[in-house]
Amino acid sequence: MQALMMDQPLLISSVLQHAARHHAGVEIVSRRVEGDIHRYTYAQCEARARQLASALQMHGMQSGDRIATLAWNGYRHMEIYYAVGGSGSVIHTINPRLHPDQIAWIVNHAEDRMMAFDATFLPIVQAIAKRCPTVSKWIFMAAADRIPADHGIENLVSYEDLLAQGSQAFTWPTFDETTAVGLCYTSGTTGNPKGALYSHRSSVLHAYAAALPDAMAASARDCILPVVPMFHVNAWGLPYTCPLVGAKLVMPGPALDGKSLYDLFEAEAVTYSAGVPTVWLGLLQYVQQNNLKFSTFRRTVIGGSACPPAMIKTFNDQFDVDVIHAWGMTEMSPLGTLCRLQNKHLALPHEAQRKLLEKQGHVVYGVDMKIVDDDGKEIAWDGKTYGNLLVRGPWVVKSYFRADGGDPLVYDEQGRGWFPTGDVATIDEDGYMQITDRSKDVIKSGGEWISSIDLENLAMAHPAVANAAVIGVAHPKWDERPLLVVVKKPGQEVGREQILSFYEGKIAKWWTPDDVQFVEAIPLGATGKILKTKLREAFKDYRLPSADV
Ligand code: ADP
Repeated sequence: MQALMMDQPLLISSVLQHAARHHAGVEIVSRRVEGDIHRYTYAQCEARARQLASALQMHGMQSGDRIATLAWNGYRHMEIYYAVGGSGSVIHTINPRLHPDQIAWIVNHAEDRMMAFDATFLPIVQAIAKRCPTVSKWIFMAAADRIPADHGIENLVSYEDLLAQGSQAFTWPTFDETTAVGLCYTSGTTGNPKGALYSHRSSVLHAYAAALPDAMAASARDCILPVVPMFHVNAWGLPYTCPLVGAKLVMPGPALDGKSLYDLFEAEAVTYSAGVPTVWLGLLQYVQQNNLKFSTFRRTVIGGSACPPAMIKTFNDQFDVDVIHAWGMTEMSPLGTLCRLQNKHLALPHEAQRKLLEKQGHVVYGVDMKIVDDDGKEIAWDGKTYGNLLVRGPWVVKSYFRADGGDPLVYDEQGRGWFPTGDVATIDEDGYMQITDRSKDVIKSGGEWISSIDLENLAMAHPAVANAAVIGVAHPKWDERPLLVVVKKPGQEVGREQILSFYEGKIAKWWTPDDVQFVEAIPLGATGKILKTKLREAFKDYRLPSADV
């Protein structure tokens, strides 16, 4: 029997329309590349997004076309998200921190029709424009007087000029909710990047789920500053979640250093933020060095790589900020799990609660997960036994763009497809998941596994350590042994023995790294995560002292 409810597709345009109508006066505040602060409301954002959609269509954008961006978090980027997606085309955010050759490869693979970019990235566009034949228009995201005279790019137009050509009478079209709305490429740490193609339905459902109280707990009372870039899995969905709940949105633009972020947090009364662990290192260092406190900042989502427990503790104890540890991936839009306490945990002692909150957390409705052994057999949820983590759900990919890599799913006995995450994890009796490692980073020593994340987390708790990474290096007897690579905090002196003795009593003795190497910096990838591949390459000729005995 067919139900008798209204047949209204879940389209992302409806999210911004909702904000424009029901949270009309709520602000979007952006630090612009131009250097100043720009502020307007959801109502103004929606009006400009419609006008931009009309202008883009006048310039040839058709349904299904991919429109690329190389841009910071800002109101114009937000307008492009909605103008492109809302009119049935596909917003393709590209990470500007990638190498220009890789960016050109991605643009050509996606066959992008147009590209909008912030002034900061003009040199990238100059380097790739001639190599991107499908791009018929390059949109400089500022007013025309900002464009340097000698830019040398054909078919370049100013964003503001283009937008002004659009009609303010444009109305959002209605179409099937399974239409593609966004395209994000994975970082391609192994082989070429692959595209995750999100639908309107998956994006709206993800935004709903993200807003739930045990997920991101986003509310109309919040002022949310996504430090996570809009080119890193759609800033974890916040450009959709914020208008959905009517939260004030603060966009940091290009200024992601500790001082600029802190100033913006204070000036705009930010209550809530989200980002990868490395960005918080800079902010925490700045506030600690200057003896500052946060007046309104109370919660932050940290994910993308394991959040060191020492960071959670600093945020909690020194700044009264709750950390919501989250896990996900590009292929999952990205949210999978978030770590919040449940009713039964409220009576636990503080330390036990904190231990739990260090985990990657509990799934949010919509995502299901399981851990399996190498034969695909499901493993018990005992919080100890680890296995390969598989997920499924309406905002998880079933295939990559252009079917690259074939069918990525593995099928269970009922024929249901599961996406193998490439992560190794445990799940406890209450369904809290903890990542042991990425399967390719786990250290295999004498047939047993050592978690590089656990060793890094412990090293990060040492007061003299600014950043730490652990990689497996070849060992004649044990196959692999852990090597700890450390960046010291400025002005701190600490030696190999002091760091290694810091592990005593905290882990099984055989897990202790065989050696420590001090470096000036640890290589970070385009999304701010430690690049283990680069690190392994840097230490490929390194021989452990223990290998000679
Ligand atoms: P990429 O694969 O391009 O780095 P993603 O951002 O999609 O991009 O990365 C997803 C991976 O990041 C996950 O599979 C996992 O290995 C890691 N990751 C994400 N969040 C966490 C977390 N909270 N703890 C540990 N690892 C995480």
